[in-house]
Amino acid sequence: MGKKKGKAIIVGGSIAGLSCAHSLTLACWDVLVLEKSSEPPVGSPTGAGLGLDPQARQIIKSWLTTPQLLDEITLPLSIDQNQTTDSEKKVTRILTRDEDFDFRAAYWSDIQSLLYNALPQTMFLWGHKFLSFTMSQDESNVKVKTLVVETQETVEIEGDLLIAADGCLSSIRKTFLPDFKLRYSGYCAWRGVFDFSGNENSETVSGIKKVYPDLGKCLYFDLGEQTHSVFYELFNKKLNWIWYVNQPEPDLKVRRLIPLSF
Ligand SMILES: Cc1cc2nc3c(=O)[nH]c(=O)nc-3n(C[C@H](O)[C@H](O)[C@H](O)COP(=O)(O)OP(=O)(O)OC[C@H]3O[C@@H](n4cnc5c(N)ncnc54)[C@H](O)[C@@H]3O)c2cc1C
Repeated sequence: MGKKKGKAIIVGGSIAGLSCAHSLTLACWDVLVLEKSSEPPVGSPTGAGLGLDPQARQIIKSWLTTPQLLDEITLPLSIDQNQTTDSEKKVTRILTRDEDFDFRAAYWSDIQSLLYNALPQTMFLWGHKFLSFTMSQDESNVKVKTLVVETQETVEIEGDLLIAADGCLSSIRKTFLPDFKLRYSGYCAWRGVFDFSGNENSETVSGIKKVYPDLGKCLYFDLGEQTHSVFYELFNKKLNWIWYVNQPEPDLKVRRLIPLSF
């Protein structure tokens, strides 16, 4: 273990924050993670799939004392297939099929737990909401103000490096890039993870496997008119699905209640 380089304060304890915590620990920094959620991740029932390329897997494994754990919780994605489906005629045509694909499919919350469990728990302050920061004149030191959510008390923490891992709406980024605006991608997505354990032979699962026979090793992109979808299987009998619908940017500032009928 080399000489400590200083104290890094990471705001955000999700995938990016945990990854930074591992990298900085390896680079001989003392690390403190501030996370506004009150509890550590414990296998959230929601979540998504992540495709890990060889470099991502190599980096994650370098952080783990038992690197094969990553292989154990992921499934191979050795085929990447793009196809187009005419849903009226129920006809599918393969556009491209790469059988040398070298990704692995991970369940988002499994990766988060794996990264979290490989770090000392003393590194985390849960229920600490970042409020603001100030830098010393020579920019060698940072003071971070946080709110302890439970007690509503404000605490100041000093460090040498501040990492903004507080997500796509980062308040720290706003300080440095006040005019930065998120750009709408042109589509909205519905997404989910379908847990089919215990229902492997059900009509629904058999139907899905008939349409997507290489599930378990294939990343499917299925293109339709003004829409596309992504399917791949995850470890422990789960199916990751995302359905993208091209549409004009929704006005998220207007909050309307839409009555649902079933
Ligand atoms: C609906 C949806 C579906 C998605 N589906 C996929 C998918 O299928 N596959 C995929 O790869 N990606 C997907 N993504 C994107 C993925 O979630 C993000 O890329 C990923 O979570 C980014 O990780 P992150 O650590 O940067 O940020 P986040 O996961 O957003 O984490 C930010 C963390 O910072 C904390 N935080 C924020 N503000 C503060 C504060 N002031 N003080 C303290 N803590 C704070 C938050 O509580 C959170 O834990 C999806 C995103 C959404 C919204």
